Amino acid sequence: MPSNSLSGLPSSPTNIFISSYTSNNNRSSSHSANSSRYKTELCRPYDENGVCKYGDKCQFAHGDKELRTLQRHPKYKTELCRTYHTTGFCPYGPRCHFIHQIQLTHLTF
Ligand SMILES: [Zn+2]
Ligand SMILES: [Zn+2]
Repeated sequence: MPSNSLSGLPSSPTNIFISSYTSNNNRSSSHSANSSRYKTELCRPYDENGVCKYGDKCQFAHGDKELRTLQRHPKYKTELCRTYHTTGFCPYGPRCHFIHQIQLTHLTF
C-alpha cells in the first residue's frame, strides 16, 4: 500500500461537507418558516446594544417603529364567543378572537 498523505484525514471528507451543507439549509428553511412572525418581536441584540449584525436582513424589529403587530384573525371580534355566552367563561380570556361583551345599551325597543 503506497503511503498516502490523506490517510490521516477522515475516510470520507465529502460526508462532512454534505452534513454542514444540510445543517445550513435547515437553518435557512426554518427562518422562512418563521416569516409569519417577521418583525413581530423586538431584536434582542439591537435592543440591548443598539447594533445587530444582521442589519436590514434581521427577522426581528429594530426598535418600536419596525415592530408590527401580528395579523388578526379575519373574523376578529366580529362574532359572539359561543363558549363565553354558553358557559359564562372562555379559556382564551381577553385573547379570544370572538366577542365576550355585548353592548346592550344601543338597543332600542
Ligand atoms: Zn436584529
Ligand atoms: Zn371567547
